[in-house]
Amino acid sequence: NEELLINSEKLSVAGQLAAGIAHEIRNPLTSLKGFLQLIASGRQNNKNYFDIMKSELTRIESIVSELLMLSKPQIYELSYRDLRHVMRETVTLLEAQALLHSIELDIQYGEEALWVHGVENQLKQVFINVLKNAIEAMGDGGSIQIVCVREGGDVIVRIQDYGPGIPREQMAKIGQPFYTTKDKGTGLGLMVSYKIVDNHQGNVSVNSTLGSGTTFEISLPYNNPEESSNGGSSNKVTPIHR
Ligand code: ADP
Ligand code: MG
Repeated sequence: NEELLINSEKLSVAGQLAAGIAHEIRNPLTSLKGFLQLIASGRQNNKNYFDIMKSELTRIESIVSELLMLSKPQIYELSYRDLRHVMRETVTLLEAQALLHSIELDIQYGEEALWVHGVENQLKQVFINVLKNAIEAMGDGGSIQIVCVREGGDVIVRIQDYGPGIPREQMAKIGQPFYTTKDKGTGLGLMVSYKIVDNHQGNVSVNSTLGSGTTFEISLPYNNPEESSNGGSSNKVTPIHR
C-alpha cells in the first residue's frame, strides 16, 4: 500500500542520514580521544594538540547545530511574501560578514512585486546558505550579484559570485549530505536548501565556470495573493507534508 511505501522510503532516508551523521561525528571524536590519550600518558605536552582538539570540537558543534535547525518544531507559517523584501532583509543579515571580507552584495530588482507563497524563514535560510557559500568562495574583495526577476510563472533569484567555480566532477556531489570541500564546512547547507526549495515546488540550478565563478539560480512559483484561488488569506498555519 502506498502509504506504507512512503513511510519505509522515509525511514531509509532517515537511516542514511543517521549513518552519515554518526560517521561525521565519530571521526573528530576518535581523533579527540587519541589526543587525550597522548596527553594523559604524560609523554607529550604539546599545546598544538589543544588547537587541533578545539577545531575538532568546533566541527562537532557546528554539525550538531545545523542538525538541530533541521529538527525545529515542524509548524510552518505559510504566507504571501514579496521576494524583493525577503531578499533585502537577508542581505541586511549578511552585510556584516560581507563587509568583513570587503565584499559588496549588489541586489537588483524591478518595480513589480515578486509574490511567492511559502515559509519566509525557510526561504531566508536558503538565500543565507547560498550567499554564505558565495562569500566563502570569493575570499576577499569583489562583489556578489543578486538579481530578482519574474519570468512568466516563476520568480527567479540569481546569485552570482566570482569565486574559483566548481569542478565538473564535484557538481554532482554538492548538496549531498556532508559533502564539503572546506576545512570547517558541514556539507549540510545546500542539502537543507535544496529540500526547502523542493518543498516550495521550486527548483535550484547551478552554473559554474572554473576560474570565473558560480551562479545559483533559485526559482519559485509566482503566487499573487490577489489572484490566488483561496482569496489571498495569509498567515495560515499549515504543515507541509513531505
Ligand atoms: P559547506 O558550505 O559547509 O561546505 P554546503 O552544502 O553549503 O556545505 O556546500 C557544499 C560544497 O559545495 C562546498 O563545500 C563547496 O565545495 C561547494 N560550493 C557551494 N557553493 C559554492 C560556490 N558558490 N562556489 C564554489 N563552490 C561552492
Ligand atoms: Mg555552506
